[in-house]
Amino acid sequence: KQPAQMKRITARDLGQWLKPRRPCSHKGDHGRLLVIGGDYGFGGAIRMAAEAALRSGAGLVRVLTHVEHVGPLLTACPELMVQRLSDDALQQALEWADVVVIGPGLGQGDWGKNALKLLQTSDKPALWDADALNLLALHPEKRQNRVLTPHPGEAARLLNCSTVDIESDRLLAVRKLVAQYGGVALLKGAGTLIADQQGDVAIADVGNAGMASGGMGDVLSGIIGGLLAQKLPLYDAACAGCVVHGAAADLVAEKQGTRGLLATDLLPMIPHYVNPEL
Ligand code: AMP
Ligand code: MG
Repeated sequence: KQPAQMKRITARDLGQWLKPRRPCSHKGDHGRLLVIGGDYGFGGAIRMAAEAALRSGAGLVRVLTHVEHVGPLLTACPELMVQRLSDDALQQALEWADVVVIGPGLGQGDWGKNALKLLQTSDKPALWDADALNLLALHPEKRQNRVLTPHPGEAARLLNCSTVDIESDRLLAVRKLVAQYGGVALLKGAGTLIADQQGDVAIADVGNAGMASGGMGDVLSGIIGGLLAQKLPLYDAACAGCVVHGAAADLVAEKQGTRGLLATDLLPMIPHYVNPEL
């Protein structure tokens, strides 16, 4: 197959994906997102993903997680709807949702496995990250209506090779991910690559080393999920979300440097970039 065109994307490209909201729109117009995860020890991941989705403009964001995380999540972010994850709640939420994000803090135990299995019975568009990817690597399944967002370690598990192999030819790796798993793949790291089924590949010219810290990937999942909820096609949501994420981090780093940058520092900066008409 002919090599794809590799397109460099920056904050200047955001206007092509993100249009101003209709003045008379209501929350139902901006999409219903379901976020599943936050196993014991990873409760923060789900909060960052869910809040990032709200900051990206999703109309409604619902979280299914452990019962112990419900109260703290609602205190941190009362705009969320949060419930205990159970089979019944998940079934009902899957019918309600336009889009699903799964993986942040999901864990690889039975709790997470069961949720992922139930999700696989639905054909709603979905973003799979983190432990959803680690579980996928154990039972590979091709699916078109999905965005995968692996870091190089997760990509290595998905492609059954080493992280060094991934990093030595990132373009080949991202192409293999879409060939083997379908949909859209986003390979994280400095110079994030995004690839689709048509052979398009984008490289993000945003971001900084301050992003090499815990929780950053969870924020990215939430941003892309929020854009998917607003009906951006998979590839556009992945490209726009990656640029919004990196540009928000660059804005924070401009003021305070890269060392000590936190994933939650990005949250209030997201609106600057999802409203490119400003
Ligand atoms: P994760 O490893 O899942 O927490 O995701 C980390 C996020 O931060 C991804 O979006 C990476 O692309 C981004 N990131 C990490 N390190 C860097 C870096 N040195 N330069 C630019 N982006 C980075
Ligand atoms: Mg991650």
